[in-house]
Amino acid sequence: MNNEHRENLVELAEYEGKCPICQGKLVIKDYKYTAPLVGDLLISVSKCENCGFKHTDVFLLSTNEPRKVVYRVEEPGDDRALLVKSSTCKIEVPELGVTIEPGIYSQGYITTVEGIILDVISITESLCSSGDAPLDKCNEVLDKLRKAHRNELPYTVILYDYLGVCDIINDKKKPVYEPLELNQE
Ligand SMILES: [Zn+2]
Repeated sequence: MNNEHRENLVELAEYEGKCPICQGKLVIKDYKYTAPLVGDLLISVSKCENCGFKHTDVFLLSTNEPRKVVYRVEEPGDDRALLVKSSTCKIEVPELGVTIEPGIYSQGYITTVEGIILDVISITESLCSSGDAPLDKCNEVLDKLRKAHRNELPYTVILYDYLGVCDIINDKKKPVYEPLELNQE
């Protein structure tokens, strides 16, 4: 982290909790981070002194109603949009068959739309490298993902944002926000 970033990082609170792995002492530190375009973020970092468990999460500080964030990637550069993904947020890319479910151990992070696609490519490659992976299916899926990464295939990134704390941010192209029913899948 360079100095410019450090100025934008303010420690808000430090408190203790229980480690979900070993029940040991968990030290939780919350930071406020102000980023250009994004605004104020809450970054929460938990560390267990006993077993080394570590968890990071990220939330928008200005919370919204539960919402669906729908972002189309159509042209080169669209995939450079920032994605604020908290652990509570579900990501779907229907055209590519991608679903990233939230879960207790999922982390929050800031990435780009391209970063998500690259993650999915590397996870798929590693799943497909096991001996009993279905080769035809693997090649088909990877081919689609790589085309999407080269901007040869338009796709839609949908965030199911139950707490209204996730977002996709691009100063040139805004996502569409839709209300999210809490029982909606
Ligand atoms: Zn622990």
